Amino acid sequence: MKYALITGGSRGIGRAIAIKLAKQGYAVVINYLNNDEAAKHTLEQIVAEGGQAELLRFDVGQPEAIEQAVEEWQQRHPDEYIDVLVNNAGIRRDNLMVFMQNEEWNSVLQTSLNAFFHLTRRLLKDMLTHRHGRIVNISSVSGLKGMAGQVNYSAAKAALIGATKALAQEVAARKVTVNAVAPGFIESDMTGDLDQGELKKLVPMKRFGKAEEVAALVAFLASDEAAYITGETIAITGGL
Ligand code: NAP
Repeated sequence: MKYALITGGSRGIGRAIAIKLAKQGYAVVINYLNNDEAAKHTLEQIVAEGGQAELLRFDVGQPEAIEQAVEEWQQRHPDEYIDVLVNNAGIRRDNLMVFMQNEEWNSVLQTSLNAFFHLTRRLLKDMLTHRHGRIVNISSVSGLKGMAGQVNYSAAKAALIGATKALAQEVAARKVTVNAVAPGFIESDMTGDLDQGELKKLVPMKRFGKAEEVAALVAFLASDEAAYITGETIAITGGL
């Protein structure tokens, strides 16, 4: 069995990725933080459709929590390793820079960027040893273009793209690929408070994207067919 860990895999884009990878035959490890009900619901849907899944609750922003969760997972699966890692968990704490609080800056960087560093470093050795691995980092169009009111989020998501390019070069010889996906406006809880009617006028396709559309791209990058793609950032924005 090949294992895929999706951080923030209980809701939104992560949930769609977990469901898609399970359909492709991966045993999926669904990470989440607070919402037990959503996580259970995702797990039950995957199992009902004949897939294999387990929950792994930890805060991706806490290095000790990562260490403990991975250690426990490895004890339960002594002969297995995580072959696919999707660094998806992320939060928004929007504010104009002049008003931005330390907590707003730190929590966004911690959840997107520091989490990438701590979790990927922890799982990388096994991928290198097995000479096979897929790392997909969920960035954002904000990381490509910058977005007013999102200096923290844009910085975190842009940094993820730089880290993706650098790490891809470090591990390519061992057949581990590292890519980033940069979604535009996607329907999810994260964008639930946005004025969809107004914002979709900015999108050439005149609609928000669906989590399943992002999941299809991630699943392709995780597949054997994508073995020669690494260090790339693929935008999925409806033309934005
Ligand atoms: P979402 O609907 O808000 O879901 C966030 C997920 O992340 C939930 O499963 C949540 O778990 C988990 N999570 C949050 N903080 C966590 C932490 N510290 N530790 C572990 N899990 C944590 O978000 P989404 O819209 O699907 O976004 C997913 C990713 O895509 C994010 O990185 C986001 O920045 C990126 N993105 C989204 C859009 C968009 O338009 N939606 C656009 C570009 C990029 P709980 O439910 O337990 O809290």
